[in-house]
Parts: sequence; C-alpha cells; structure tokens
Amino acid sequence: MCDSPRDSRASGAFERGRHEIRTGRRTLLTAGAAGIAISTATSGLPRAAAAASAGTRRRAYVLVLDGCRPDEISPTLMPRTSALRDGGLHHPRATSLPVMETIPSHVMMMSGVRPDRSGVPANSILDRTTGEVRDMDRPEDIRVRTIIERLNRNGLTTGTVLSKEYLYGIFGGRATHRWEPAPIVPVSGHAPDASTMEATLAMVEEHDPHLVFVNLGDIDRMGHSDLTGPLGVRAARQAALAATDLQVGRFVDLLKSSGRWQTSLLVVLADHSMDWSLPHQLIHLTPVLEADPLLAGHVTIADNGGADLLYWTGDPALLDAAVTRMRALTSAVPGVLAAHDPRVTPALRTGPLGGDVIVYARAGWRFSDPDQWSNPIPGNHGHPATMPIPFFLAGGHRRVPRGVTSSRRAATIDVAPTLADFFGVGAPRGGYDGRSRLP
Ligand SMILES: [Zn+2]
Repeated sequence: MCDSPRDSRASGAFERGRHEIRTGRRTLLTAGAAGIAISTATSGLPRAAAAASAGTRRRAYVLVLDGCRPDEISPTLMPRTSALRDGGLHHPRATSLPVMETIPSHVMMMSGVRPDRSGVPANSILDRTTGEVRDMDRPEDIRVRTIIERLNRNGLTTGTVLSKEYLYGIFGGRATHRWEPAPIVPVSGHAPDASTMEATLAMVEEHDPHLVFVNLGDIDRMGHSDLTGPLGVRAARQAALAATDLQVGRFVDLLKSSGRWQTSLLVVLADHSMDWSLPHQLIHLTPVLEADPLLAGHVTIADNGGADLLYWTGDPALLDAAVTRMRALTSAVPGVLAAHDPRVTPALRTGPLGGDVIVYARAGWRFSDPDQWSNPIPGNHGHPATMPIPFFLAGGHRRVPRGVTSSRRAATIDVAPTLADFFGVGAPRGGYDGRSRLP
C-alpha cells in the first residue's frame, strides 16, 4: 500500500529524530518530478518572523474522528467528547469539502489549501501517467508544504499517528515522529483505536512533540461495514462511537494528569460524515457510458463511494463534447444528485486530477463502478449528504474560548491556519484557503 521509499515497515515502531527525517526528505526529493515540485515549494517560502521557539510549552493536538457525524457527539453516545466540545469553541456549521473522502480531507487539514493547490482531490483517482486507477497514498502526491513541515522548519517537532495505511503512506516521513499503524485489521487496512491511542499516548509521553496529528479510524470503519445502519439500529456503529469516546477520554486524562492541559490546543473534527445506502440503492454508471457511441471505451471511472470521478481518455479535441454527454447521461440515472464539470464549478476546486466530470450520489445511495460488485459496503461518503462534520477547539490554553458556539462556517481547511496562528509560523505563498478559528 505504501510507496514511501524510506518505509521501514517496522511494526508499530516510532521513527525518531531530525536526522532520520532529513534523510527521508532527501529521499523524497529525489523520488521524481513530483518530488522536485516539493523542493521548489520548500525553498521558495519565507520563514515566519515571529515563530514560537522550540522551547515553547505550547502544544497542539489534532484528533480526527474519522467519519463521525456531528449528531453522534451526544452526552449519551459520546460523553467525554461531548463534554470536551461543550467546554470549548464549537462550530456546529462546519463542513468537509469536495471530494468528501478521507485522504483529501486530511491533506486539506494539514495544508490549509483546496485540492487544486494541494494536488489531492480524492481517495481514488485516474493516474494518467500509468492509465491506472489508484489510491493517493504516496508522499509525493501532496504538492505543497504542510503545516507539519512548516513547524519543523521553525525548529518545532511534530508527530503523526494515523490509523490507516494510506494516510501513513501519503504523509510519509514529513513528521519528526511517525507511527506505523499496527496491528492492521484485515480488509479495512486500519489499526483499532485502542492501538492508535496507545501509540499517541506513548508518543506524547516519550517525545512530547509540539504538534501531534491523530486519525482514529474505528468509527468510519464500523460505519462502512455496519449492515444495520440503514435500518436505523446501527448497533455496531454505536459500539464504535462509545469505544472511540473512551479513547478521547484517555487522551484528555493524560493531558490533565501530566500538566499539559493548560498549554494545549485541541482541534477535534471529522474528515467527512457518513451516509447509509439501502442494498438496492446502488448507482452503476459503467453500462450507461459504455452504451454511448462517443463515450464507449473512452471513459475511466474512479469510484469514491458517494462520488464517481469520470475521466475522458479519448481524443482531447472531443473533451467538451464528451463532458456534455457524460453529464447529460449520468444526470438521468436514478440516485444521481448532480453531474458537475469542475472547470465551470468554482466551488469544487478539485483540479485536473479530480476528473473531467464529478458525479454525486443522492443521500441514501452509493456508486459501484466499474463493476456492480465493486462497492458492496453500505456506509459511504464523498457526496454532499456527508459534508456536515463535528469541529471544535478545546484545551486549556488561554486562547481557547470556553463554552462558546460559533455561527461561522468552519471547514477542514481551517486546521492548518489555526495551527499556524497558534504557533506563529506564517502562511504559504498565496495564503491559506482556510482561516484560523482562534479568536
Ligand atoms: Zn475518512
């Protein structure tokens, strides 16, 4: 799954130390054309003038409750998380941004920019250099500097504890301390939250990085596989919510018992929400496109659950005609919400890698392409129904408001600017697309 050239595959181990990371970065820089782009971005950015020094006691922790819906953080289902939210700065109108999938959302959090700038629009894309549909799980897929690298350049230390193999892959050796998810649950490709939190606590206690970025994957994985979801029972899902809430509680307890709470900022959010489809509410676009004389044999689909990305692979001179045809045909398919041309839909900002047409499912539906059995899982995201996310700031640092609800529309891209503001490390050339949520 991971193409990182420096991937040690040491089970569950931390990789430590500045030297090792610099070595890793050199390896990335020699990894091809995309790596050179990283190098250019790195050298072209000015250092922030008033950055926090390495001696600062300030700490920031980003906890991603993967696939958690805002309504699930309730005193009954998730008491610890709910209390954390109510004691901090809550953004009830927060959203994920297109495409509402795990990898692009985490990249938006750490880069603070939309996919047309970061280069990461979806989980699954057509790689036109190989003609293959693949996951965006390579370190060189991120084409901008993230807040992780920005902090490192300012002498601060960072850590990533990411439960999913493809997140471990795409964030690569960027952080000072990096945990490889283990043990991995077969099929799901993620580490259970208990293991992920164990690693988080150990990283904080042993290395105390200024920033730790954590992905807890259980809620999402139970959402995908929970067959009781559409029936309203959601038993497995609720068990996962309760279990993840315990892990959030363990983290808060460590911060308080170790004296870190007073100097800490927590950003707690989800990367996207979750929507459940009934078994018969399945959208299969391949036969629709293959039946058309212009499109047959010249369209590749990257299935992203609630969003299908359509790529024209025929004569480039026919692109406009093909886009018009793809939109017209797919819009008429039951379960399709809309078919967009990203070139004329500024809100998408998915960039050239995101496909020539983006087709969204309605709530309660999912895509299954290229085959009818390609996507058997009932829980999906990527479509507008899965945009609302929990998002709140917590922690005992004096800059974190207490018990405040904001009417502003926060989003995943606000995480990096919030962290940059907290540590005083500046913005990328062209500025952030998001904004700091600290008052
Ligand atoms: Zn996710």
